[in-house]
Amino acid sequence: MPDYIKRDNMTFSELLSSKDWSEYFSNLSKTLNFEFHFYDEDGIKLFSIGENKFCKFIESAKVERLTCSDSCIKLMLESLKAITPSIYKCPAGIMNFSFPVERFDEKIYIRGIGGFASYDAFLDFLKFAKETVLPPLLSTMPLNFMEEESVSAIANYVYLTVNKLLSTFDEKYRVEEKLLRMTSLFDSHTFATLSKNPDLLHRYILDTIEFVLGKTSATIMVLDHSEFVYKSIYSTGVYKDDLAGFQLDAKSPLVHNMFNTRTFVFSGGTEKHTAGEPLKKTSSFLFFPIFIGDTIEKIIGIFDRSLSREDLKIMNAFRDYLQLNLENHNLRFSITKMKKADEKLAYIADFSNSIAAVLGRERLFNTLLEKTLQYLHAEQGSVMLLDHDTSELVVEARKGTDDAVQEKMRLKKEETIAGRVIESGEPLLVEDIEKDPRVKRENRSHYKTKSFISIMIKIEDRVTGVINVADKIRGDAFTDEDLKLLQSFVSNAAIAIERSLLYKQTEELKQLSITDPLTGIYNRRYLNTRLSEEITRYNRYKHPFSFMMLDMDKFKEYNDTFGHILGDKLIKALATIMEKSLRNVDIAARFGGDEFVAIFPQTTKVDAIHITNRLKEKIDKALHQETLEIPVTVSMGLTTYPDDASSIGELLEKTDQALYLAKRGGGNKVVYL
Ligand code: GH3
Ligand code: MG
Repeated sequence: MPDYIKRDNMTFSELLSSKDWSEYFSNLSKTLNFEFHFYDEDGIKLFSIGENKFCKFIESAKVERLTCSDSCIKLMLESLKAITPSIYKCPAGIMNFSFPVERFDEKIYIRGIGGFASYDAFLDFLKFAKETVLPPLLSTMPLNFMEEESVSAIANYVYLTVNKLLSTFDEKYRVEEKLLRMTSLFDSHTFATLSKNPDLLHRYILDTIEFVLGKTSATIMVLDHSEFVYKSIYSTGVYKDDLAGFQLDAKSPLVHNMFNTRTFVFSGGTEKHTAGEPLKKTSSFLFFPIFIGDTIEKIIGIFDRSLSREDLKIMNAFRDYLQLNLENHNLRFSITKMKKADEKLAYIADFSNSIAAVLGRERLFNTLLEKTLQYLHAEQGSVMLLDHDTSELVVEARKGTDDAVQEKMRLKKEETIAGRVIESGEPLLVEDIEKDPRVKRENRSHYKTKSFISIMIKIEDRVTGVINVADKIRGDAFTDEDLKLLQSFVSNAAIAIERSLLYKQTEELKQLSITDPLTGIYNRRYLNTRLSEEITRYNRYKHPFSFMMLDMDKFKEYNDTFGHILGDKLIKALATIMEKSLRNVDIAARFGGDEFVAIFPQTTKVDAIHITNRLKEKIDKALHQETLEIPVTVSMGLTTYPDDASSIGELLEKTDQALYLAKRGGGNKVVYL
């Protein structure tokens, strides 16, 4: 066992015979009618809980043929070659089950002794008792018959609950401790620095794994997008040299497996390695995929090690953590790219980003505070964000009775404890506000306890604000442990916050780039995407689709008479009518100027004519009301794919021709090819 794992002072046997556990087994024994025996790895009995009267009776008789303990233990040890519960019948015909449990390096066998398998088994036993002149059986001895099936169900139940209890018991200082180590080693600040230097990042990932799991042979592979292979970039341990230059085909079953399950793969033991040299040299390997979106971007390989359940849990959590960080980094990158791609768009995007951030914030910070308070079992707290321009702290979320802290309140940085935390860059854990020389002041009556914690919220290396936590529910003071937990929690939360903000931004940007600013319906860019999707769909399913183009008649005149503002209003009105009148599956878009288009997926020409005519009726009616003096009507051209065209270009051209024919025929009509 690596020495960084904090071991409690108890041995496994002491733990299982401790008060809580004996109570648990004793209850189990009463409800299930089983006696429990606990043995060490050599089969030496440690202690037992509950009593099986038959067992006791036989043992007390000390009959040669039934040297129960010996034969039972032999049977038990034999059955334990399997890891899961085994069921067997003892020489006296009583049903037993046993299984091993493990904690750290210690193993203990638990054996349950129940009743006779059947009435016949009991009769056999009686017969035998008579022959061997055993003392008379007492009539008060409880008689339970247990078929193999029910013993098996009970065994599984006990096996699962014991393991579950053990893991939750141990998790406290195993998983939490290790995760804390990992995430504190790898906070978002470190990550931001490292993500600029991939080599360093990879090295750091493996170092962190080694730090937590102990000496490990490991590698990190990165997807080469052009060759579609994973290349081993950095390795540690005995296979370091073998793995230099190692490549894993991205189309291999191994990668497929990870892709489909979105989790790690294990190869080793009796299974044959599916991958090539030099992996064959290793006796086993575990591959952890790191997804960015839908692509496995990196793979972490760990060799010749079987991880305990907890270590696997930790590796998975660490993997999620890396994914989250990498995804954040990529989102940020794609935003910058999108912004550069279209400066005008970026201007709008920037504006709406700030709105998105403000809109989302309230909920985000309230959630952050709520979760923090839950996490630390505290009652009061607040989240304050730093306004860099004014050096003020703005209360973004609060919970508690302290009136001096109200939402949206602005506090001078110098005058607050939170401000002091930002200035010093150090978190503050105060056990007694009235005694601590750093903050010494009278405790306000709103607070039950004199202890609190204030720590910074950092996103990347920017200080964003402070989170204050006060009043533990149980009334005791905060501890170093609380502070550590909070730091790790907040740094993770900061990533999540940033992620949700970034995600929102990219979504908005995507939305902006496919919608028409005036009408809010799809624009020409999106139309092209959709048309090619429809063509792909046709190639696969052979469902034809139809396409319609619409242009207002005499719109110029309307514009000239009433001005652009009313012209705009008319364009918006037309967009609304189209959106409202078309089916959900149909796509309406503004093509530009006074031109609109619609895609009718999976729609033949006959149906499309019907839909278009109905649409025109609705438009006519609405436009008639809006434009009494200069009546504006619409002309429409209609085509169907693949009847009229075999490409997007041709489809647009043919539809335009149909529209032209409608105009040439005096407008206000639908023409289809
Ligand atoms: P036609 O019957 O041949 O279609 O004649 P029209 O008057 O509708 O002329 P056309 O379609 O060729 O020109 C469209 C006019 O729409 C040109 C321009 O003045 C106006 N327009 C284009 N975009 C906008 C806009 O965003 N807002 C407003 N108010 N007018 C626009
Ligand atoms: Mg027009």
